Amino acid sequence: MAEEETLTPMMIQYRGIKEKYKTEVVFFRLGDFYEMFDEDAVEVSRLLNLTLTHRASRPMCGIPYHAAKVYIARLLRLGKKIVICEQVGEIPKGGKGIAERKVVEIITPGTAVEAEYLDGGRANYLAALCIVKGKAAFAYIDVTTSSFNATSWPANKMAENFGKELNRASPRELLLPASLKNNTDIQNVVSSYGAISLSYYPDWDFNAELSFKKLTNQFKTANLKAFGLEAESPELVPAGFLLDYLEKTTNTILPHIGAIRIYNDNEYLMMDDSSRRNLEIISNMREGGSQYTLLECVDFTKTAMGGRLLRNWLLFPLTNLRQIEDRQTKVASFVENRSLLDKVKIDLGNILDVERLAGRIAMERAHAKDLQALRASLESWTHIKEYLGQYDFSFISDESAKKICGLIENSIMDDPSTSLTDGGIIKAGWSEELDHWRGVHDNFNQILSEYEAEEREKTGITTLKVKYNNAAGYFIEVSKGKLANVPPHFIMRRALVNGDRYTTERLQQLEQELNESSTKILELERDLFVEIRSSLLQYIPYLLQLAQEIANTDAAASFAQTAIEHNWVRPEIEESTYFEIKNGRHPVVENHLPRGEFVPNDSLLSADDEAVPAFALITGPNMAGKSTYLRQNALIALLAQTGSYVPASSARLGIVDRIFCRVGASDNLAKGESTFLVEMTETANILHAATKRSLVIMDEVGRGTSTEDGLAIARAVSEYLLDTIGCKTFFATHYHELSRMEHSRLQMLCMDVLEQNGSVVFLRKVKEGVTENSYGIHVAKLAGIPQNVIDRANVILSHIQALAADNPIILDDIKKELPASQPAAPVSPGLFSDEEIIISEILSTDTDNLTPLNALQIIARWKKTLSGR
Ligand code: ADP
Repeated sequence: MAEEETLTPMMIQYRGIKEKYKTEVVFFRLGDFYEMFDEDAVEVSRLLNLTLTHRASRPMCGIPYHAAKVYIARLLRLGKKIVICEQVGEIPKGGKGIAERKVVEIITPGTAVEAEYLDGGRANYLAALCIVKGKAAFAYIDVTTSSFNATSWPANKMAENFGKELNRASPRELLLPASLKNNTDIQNVVSSYGAISLSYYPDWDFNAELSFKKLTNQFKTANLKAFGLEAESPELVPAGFLLDYLEKTTNTILPHIGAIRIYNDNEYLMMDDSSRRNLEIISNMREGGSQYTLLECVDFTKTAMGGRLLRNWLLFPLTNLRQIEDRQTKVASFVENRSLLDKVKIDLGNILDVERLAGRIAMERAHAKDLQALRASLESWTHIKEYLGQYDFSFISDESAKKICGLIENSIMDDPSTSLTDGGIIKAGWSEELDHWRGVHDNFNQILSEYEAEEREKTGITTLKVKYNNAAGYFIEVSKGKLANVPPHFIMRRALVNGDRYTTERLQQLEQELNESSTKILELERDLFVEIRSSLLQYIPYLLQLAQEIANTDAAASFAQTAIEHNWVRPEIEESTYFEIKNGRHPVVENHLPRGEFVPNDSLLSADDEAVPAFALITGPNMAGKSTYLRQNALIALLAQTGSYVPASSARLGIVDRIFCRVGASDNLAKGESTFLVEMTETANILHAATKRSLVIMDEVGRGTSTEDGLAIARAVSEYLLDTIGCKTFFATHYHELSRMEHSRLQMLCMDVLEQNGSVVFLRKVKEGVTENSYGIHVAKLAGIPQNVIDRANVILSHIQALAADNPIILDDIKKELPASQPAAPVSPGLFSDEEIIISEILSTDTDNLTPLNALQIIARWKKTLSGR
């Protein structure tokens, strides 16, 4: 019964709307609030930490409408879609019944256009994926900047490719055909991706024919050849679907979307998703933020457009020599002329997001302040173009910029209102009609006194007065003595004791004009503004191109600033397989150490030159700097192909086609895969995909299994890389036994360590040779392991080493002959704390022979001991 009672007319209205928007959060306008009900209220109150109340035992929560944007922005970030439902009619007379309500806007994470909902430094992509005739096709679009991209891959390579593309595009919203709900590869990638709005649509909505029509209509072309698409290209299916979804959701025209970039991953330096993550290019491994990433290290951009482009440069490094050199030349213009760089940076700092402004103009969302911002930005850009005139930047002509600036300057007030309906937008002198109405409005008193003077003169009644009162409005008053002189065009209004009141046609007309003027001004201002904004539509392609030029200049200036600030050099790039670096440094580690503390290291490899090694095997204890050295080589190769300078004193680098970086053991327990399986999957991928032109970085491969297995795998993998693929490889290992491998193209490197009076200093210097000692016990001591445990470990170690000297590989023997454990101090519950006992157990655990399952069981036991259960 309670259910029945709560269904007031308003709730029936709400339900009718909610019925159509089951997966969205419905913001239902009630007075000064947006209210949410039922499951929406429960969810949103939890997500946004709002108070959940009840109305007739129905969950409800509300937010003030004037603060709605803040809440909407937060919900969008969490991957929610929002439906705004406003009151559109009046409450029926007599207060009975309810006002009509309508959905006025649908805001989704991937279609939002308001600045408050966007992140300036990154694109806001809406993506779609589907499978078309054995190919997976993936498209993504940022409606605010018109960036529209698509690619495809064989459907049976879903796991690696989708993960790579999804993380690279990092969309906020993904649309899938319903049939892919059961595709485990896709679901795995999505579940480890983070907050995203995910929706499914019937498979038949992903339709090649409709998509072809949609795209040709949008681009106003007969076919799609100009974009590299045929009628049967798989990419056009998700691309067309995206356009359709956008039109339906945003309910606006999208004239700025005029092209699509179809790319094939092999046009760029290829890198799989785990390599990109391992190298911490855009986001760090710890919490996915931008701190301690390569991007953070090189990002000195001043504009949002430059920031977005720089990010793209790091995500899509080039493989074409001419293009790389082209970027280098631009960077060099700034590096070689510091004062030019400083001047350009100042003007860049005054440039707003022209790309998104153009999008707002195209979608009829721009307000007058946006136009003034556009003008100011174009003017600053003109200065930059002057400074850069003599350099090789080849900009498009400023004809259009001049016209746009002229138009805005003449028509829009300097500090206009952001509202379209409140006036205060159009400059005086732009429209005669508007000036007239403003004149009426602002100078009405003067108009009246002029009229008064005119009538006095005409009639000769010098005491005649134009007056006003609330009841009668405007009238002419003629005193008693002058009534005889009243002319025929005076219309009698009222006779009074002292004189009579009249009106005239002219006075009535003036009064009407005054009454109309306020509304007229507001209407005219809005119409004129819309007209001005529409007249800018023709410049959208120009503005988008200009935005690209600004972004390019900003990103190049940012690389230059990085190079100057961190003392980087311009690498020599060539079509070869050389990899020669003098005094290379890790850009991020160096940045976070006190100046001068980072120890630089050289590298020299070549896949082709027989006189030079192709494979560097690096041994050294933990903490010696192996990973840092490995990663710095990968990062330098990558930076070089983005057109950047590199952290080294000199570098000569052949263009690489792929970089693989398998570093450390990264668990993916969420996916139910063991560390070792992940490690082997990634290694398999490298062995299948690497070519002679690739750069392979491998750190501690084979660590996740027993020593014998691990060593055997590490060795077989190394041989395959050396003999079959022949690519440049940096391979770090703790298996000293691996250093017994012999090969003409193999170079042994190790991390220099200084032993002094029983203590150990890591010098972080790479030198030729092999480290035999792993100094693990030294590190254990640094970590505070009790001295008696350290002593015992040293005894065991010397025994193992003595045996290993005779028979390095067969470690089983070592185990057999190991003397029975005789703890240096007896372990009894009374003498030692649980923690100490566990630490001694850790030390005596044979980790090399432990299966992951065993390890988990042991940890569970420790946990039990420590928690006393
Ligand atoms: P490993 O891989 O050998 O265990 P890492 O590469 O992780 O060692 O380095 C350990 C730490 O040593 C790093 O966090 C860094 O602070 C420091 N380090 C590494 N390489 C250098 C270097 N070349 N110069 C200065 N410090 C370094």
